[in-house]
Amino acid sequence: FKKQKVAIIGSGNWGSAIARIAGNNALKLSDIFEYEVSMYVYEEDFNGKPLTQVINELHENPKYLPGIKLPENVVAYPSAAKAAEGATLLVFVLPHQFIRSVCTQLKGQINPEAYAISMIKGVEVKDGEISIFADVIEETLGVECAALSGANIANEVAEDKFSETTIGHREGEKGKEAAELFFKLFDTPTFKVGMIEDVAGVSLCGALKNVVAIAAGFTDGLGWGDNAKAAIMRIGLLEMKRFSEEFFKGVKPETFTETSAGVADLITTCFGGRNRKCAEAFVKTGKSFEVLEKELLNGQKLQGSETAREIHEFLKARGKVDDYPLFKAVYSIAYEGIDAHDLTSKL
Ligand code: NAD
Ligand code: 13P
Repeated sequence: FKKQKVAIIGSGNWGSAIARIAGNNALKLSDIFEYEVSMYVYEEDFNGKPLTQVINELHENPKYLPGIKLPENVVAYPSAAKAAEGATLLVFVLPHQFIRSVCTQLKGQINPEAYAISMIKGVEVKDGEISIFADVIEETLGVECAALSGANIANEVAEDKFSETTIGHREGEKGKEAAELFFKLFDTPTFKVGMIEDVAGVSLCGALKNVVAIAAGFTDGLGWGDNAKAAIMRIGLLEMKRFSEEFFKGVKPETFTETSAGVADLITTCFGGRNRKCAEAFVKTGKSFEVLEKELLNGQKLQGSETAREIHEFLKARGKVDDYPLFKAVYSIAYEGIDAHDLTSKL
């Protein structure tokens, strides 16, 4: 029996929080996992030093997860290929806009027996087609890929505050085997992992709730109160589910209504997330999302504003924009100069 070698591909706010959990579990379950958990870090300067060097010296990522210690077996690498070398378990946790280029760097270099998991909250829209990133990873790298998503604000998880999460896995023996390995890598008493055979449903919940969170942030910016936000969340959940069922055959309705990836993540993101925060500021300041991301997030990335644009592009190509009035309103307010007060006028 060969031990599992773990590589975390990403090191942002969530990437660092998840590297901490995987590192600690690899130390605890040393009969299953190799000692070192490698972590790909997109290199940048941090106070005059390369960020990888700072992380490896401090055992902390002071840029994206300040104040949280990483276990010493988490080792930062500036090259994705180097971090992934020999890996049997690959964890993809990068903002969605960077996945294609990182997969290109890894193509042909991954053991086809390895298992991957996507923690990315976003979709790819290209040439009028839509894909979840678990499928993009499977197709470009030739490895089986699951998805993990849940009500998981990274800073809270990093402080061991209780939360649940959901692994969506593929059908069949390999799908189950991969999910069980990832369960062992991530489950802790304060980070409880559930499993469901629904990679697409889990991935789409993570991507689409960010669009609803933008709408929730608009209600905060407008000062509309809790009832309005609850209404947006209810309507948003229905659009998320309907969109997923229309364009991805086989998604399970209970993924949306019963898992952490579904309703629970929608709730946490609409109250505590970065998308909500920037959308509130959008209404209050009139600045664009691009500017607000730079001003408010210190290098972290917004996923919801991009996803709203990508979903709009996809629906427009199919003549279905009007079938999803909340997604349409978010797009029109974010990009077409429509007044935020019109958010609910067509719902
Ligand atoms: P983040 O928002 O902190 O993004 C910054 C990361 O992007 C940094 O690691 C940075 O080095 C990297 N980066 C910047 N430019 C790059 C480039 N050109 N190529 C490659 N990498 C580059 O990242 P995150 O919070 O770890 O988010 C990753 C994914 O996880 C997202 O899809 C997000 O929605 C999801 N997620 C985030 C949270 C959270 O609370 N932060 C929770 C659950 C899921
Ligand atoms: P934000 O990207 O809006 O911060 O959401 C984080 C998240 O996905 C919590 O589960």
